[in-house]
Amino acid sequence: MARSVLVTGGNRGIGLAIARELAVAGDAVAVTYRSGEPPEGLFGVRCDVTSMADVEAAFDKAEAEHGPVEVVVANAGITKDTLLPMMKEETFTDVIDANLTGAYRVAKRAVRGMLRMRRGRIILISSTTATRGLAGQTNYAASKAGMIGFARSAARELGSRGITVNVVAPGFVQTDMTADLDESYQEQIKAAIPLGRYATTADIARVVKFIASDDAAYITGAVIPVDGGLGMGH
Ligand code: NDP
Repeated sequence: MARSVLVTGGNRGIGLAIARELAVAGDAVAVTYRSGEPPEGLFGVRCDVTSMADVEAAFDKAEAEHGPVEVVVANAGITKDTLLPMMKEETFTDVIDANLTGAYRVAKRAVRGMLRMRRGRIILISSTTATRGLAGQTNYAASKAGMIGFARSAARELGSRGITVNVVAPGFVQTDMTADLDESYQEQIKAAIPLGRYATTADIARVVKFIASDDAAYITGAVIPVDGGLGMGH
């Protein structure tokens, strides 16, 4: 039987690529979308991950359609870049709420069914910024680094129940999130990446597919960089 998969922020960018990759591999995939329309050919449920009620409702709908979620990808995320002296408190807390507390809400709801099934895959999309840092991203880096401690603690809690919890940490990926960076900055970034290019969304999606697969059954609490060498394994 097809596995029930839920990907948050699956209407565009990296989330959509992950959803499509898993759907092509035979999974029954639900994606959450916050605004706009659900992507064609995928089961869409509206959800803002800053609301626990929304997260509950999205899982309820996905599970009514496909059964208990066996693979969850906490991908929804935002940036609100500002240098620290200018950063308002809400600019900091908004990013923590969407990225880190959002991942907590999603993982917490997901484990309910996984504990019953005694199997599951929780995959959190972090960033190389979590470990390398980036000027203007104290809020974002804190949220993405928080995911690592969260995942490792959850991995210890849930390992005996057959549930793995891993972090995938992309470097720079060609999506709307990076499209706004000015061209000379983009050239500077590419020069710092050993592989000399941004990731495609497919580069990230294929690694997520592996972590979600049976082949990755013995990997948990790991941070898997997919960054063209930018972080040299961190
Ligand atoms: P995009 O900006 O292209 O897409 C972000 C997705 O997250 C959208 O689907 C968006 O929904 C959704 N989202 C944002 N906030 C919320 C919320 N509060 N509730 C529900 N959904 C929300 O981003 P990317 O595809 O580039 O990024 C995906 C993930 O990968 C993010 O977590 C990001 O931090 C991470 N990442 C991205 C990198 C990059 O270079 N692009 C590098 C490293 C990590 P909506 O369409 O409604 O706005």
